[in-house]
Amino acid sequence: MQELESLKFSNPFADLPEDFFHKQNWTPFDNPKLIHFNEELAELLGLPKDLDPEDLMLYVNGNKAFKHSAPLSMAYAGHQFGSWVPQLGDGRGILLGQLQTKEGLMDLHIKGAGKTPYSRFGDGRAVLRSTIREYLCGEAMHHLGIPSSRSLIMIGSDEPVFRETTEFGAMMIRVAKTHIRFGHFEYLMHNKKSEFIPILLNHVIESYFPELKESKDGYTDLFEKIVSSTARLIAKWQAFGFAHGVMNTDNMSVLGETFDFGPFGFLDEYNPGFICNHSDHSGRYAFNNQPSIGLWNCHALAAALKDHIEIERTKEIINSYEKIFYDELTRLYRKKLGLFKKEKDDLKLVEELLTWMKDHKKDYTNTFRALAEGNNDFTDEVEQAWFKKYQERLDREASNETERNALMNSSNPQYILRNYLAQEAIQAAEIGDFSALNFLIEVLKKPYLKNENYNKFSEVPPEWANKLEISCSS
Ligand code: AMP
Ligand code: MG
Repeated sequence: MQELESLKFSNPFADLPEDFFHKQNWTPFDNPKLIHFNEELAELLGLPKDLDPEDLMLYVNGNKAFKHSAPLSMAYAGHQFGSWVPQLGDGRGILLGQLQTKEGLMDLHIKGAGKTPYSRFGDGRAVLRSTIREYLCGEAMHHLGIPSSRSLIMIGSDEPVFRETTEFGAMMIRVAKTHIRFGHFEYLMHNKKSEFIPILLNHVIESYFPELKESKDGYTDLFEKIVSSTARLIAKWQAFGFAHGVMNTDNMSVLGETFDFGPFGFLDEYNPGFICNHSDHSGRYAFNNQPSIGLWNCHALAAALKDHIEIERTKEIINSYEKIFYDELTRLYRKKLGLFKKEKDDLKLVEELLTWMKDHKKDYTNTFRALAEGNNDFTDEVEQAWFKKYQERLDREASNETERNALMNSSNPQYILRNYLAQEAIQAAEIGDFSALNFLIEVLKKPYLKNENYNKFSEVPPEWANKLEISCSS
């Protein structure tokens, strides 16, 4: 299709100094197969309306080329599980370029593209299982209202890829506002390329915060924006019960989007110490550690930028993280409880409910949804006392029941991406049956709307799901 070939990519990253990337093409599969195409995202990106996904697949696989794209793999570094790794980079990814959309610039990036100079010991591939997980998670997050990368298309292959078992290779186009990570700045700082840092800072300002161009301390202003968007993002994760799993600094977007989530997991029962990543032996990225790890990562970014940002303001910005995080968390929990008014003990009220949920191993999502619908199974004394307190708090609201129900039902999802649901879809897809996957994607598109046909999707995990182990291997 002519229009697809001449898609209007811009490539400002490719115009930066060569130290930032390696320009290259990627490695096609011999027998690519279309797995899923995201029509809604294609529309946002302004792709041709009558686009044939089979045709787009040929571009993803590298059999056809976008005329205006300047493909490259990016160089970056990062702290992985707290340890410094001086050289990471896109070991299996290719940035195609950016498209201008009504929601701003969007990067298109191929994941699973084959080897690059940054592949280290990896094979450059992604497996179908992890590609499906990333696709599902992007959709789930987006429709819950949490900023996240998404996927435009997934393709599969019959190319064997060796992980714990032999699996099949897959690729997808990941769409994110940016692929610039905290680790990009760390790479420049710690690899004696710090003179390039202002170039990258200017690039971020130019592309995403042009209003800062005139600022007298634009780099520190930019740092402030990164810290606050990170704090607000992580508050959303906590409120929705999302565990990212690998919050290494190379997986942190500078625009506060959920990004590079491999072994992620949504909470089933409320367990604040939940570790979704089986490879995370120390629990560094446990659910309740995420807020402080977000701050740790901001410190790592500050260290990388130290010669370019104003030190006293930087300290203040770092100190503001906690307040921004709690303000956002409280705002979200007020909505979940149907509270329009602000009272100072609101978060305390939530904490008491969470303690009860933890002690009674209650399902996080379903408990809140039940509260929204006026159902609860608060049978013990502690909880009845809590419920009384909650009723008294509601009595101090000026809102009526209809308003409150509307707020609560649009803040407490009926359906989330439970791990076992993803697993069922993956197992079927691995033997060529994509019906469960397609159905699950539809369910995730309307997480707040109760649908009798979807009852099964809000069930708590079956017994077999307790044994599921998700690791970094992808
Ligand atoms: P991740 O855990 O996916 O964030 O990846 C961490 C780093 O390892 C990044 O530099 C990736 O590009 C690289 N990487 C992960 N898997 C592979 C692979 N199969 N082949 C090459 N590089 C990989
Ligand atoms: Mg990564």
